[in-house]
Amino acid sequence: MTYDPDNIFAKILRDEIPCIKVYEDDLTLAFMDIMPQAEGHTLVIPKTEAQDLFNLEPDMASALIRTTQKVAKAVKKGLKPKGVMLAQLNGAAAGQSVFHIHFHIIPRQGGIDLTLHARDQADMSKIQEIAEKIKAALE
Ligand code: AMP
Repeated sequence: MTYDPDNIFAKILRDEIPCIKVYEDDLTLAFMDIMPQAEGHTLVIPKTEAQDLFNLEPDMASALIRTTQKVAKAVKKGLKPKGVMLAQLNGAAAGQSVFHIHFHIIPRQGGIDLTLHARDQADMSKIQEIAEKIKAALE
């Protein structure tokens, strides 16, 4: 499978569709998942064309995990969940639905607290409110 430049995250990177941004640097972008599996569900993507981990340059993989750690720390500090789960899916069989590599940062409260993957769009003003808490906690 080759990279499709019209995937939704590529469109976000080109500013063709909006996102609720929490962090950006030269190599990466972090924004809120609009169909969150838990309150505070955040996504981190590299600014390079790679559909999955197997097509990502090592230097970009480093940048991606550095930003993921930075934003996960802000999620932990800003939202104070009991735990923080990271997920990264490769291939449709693994559940990947957007073919531009990304890490999921999902706050967890314990037990069965996740809603279904990429299913229901949440209230955007509520997501915006949560994003502000994450941004305020960024170091
Ligand atoms: P995956 O299934 O691992 O490829 O994850 C894709 C994620 O992108 C899902 O959690 C979706 O809820 C999320 N998603 C899809 N479209 C958008 C969008 N326009 N803005 C933010 N998140 C999105």
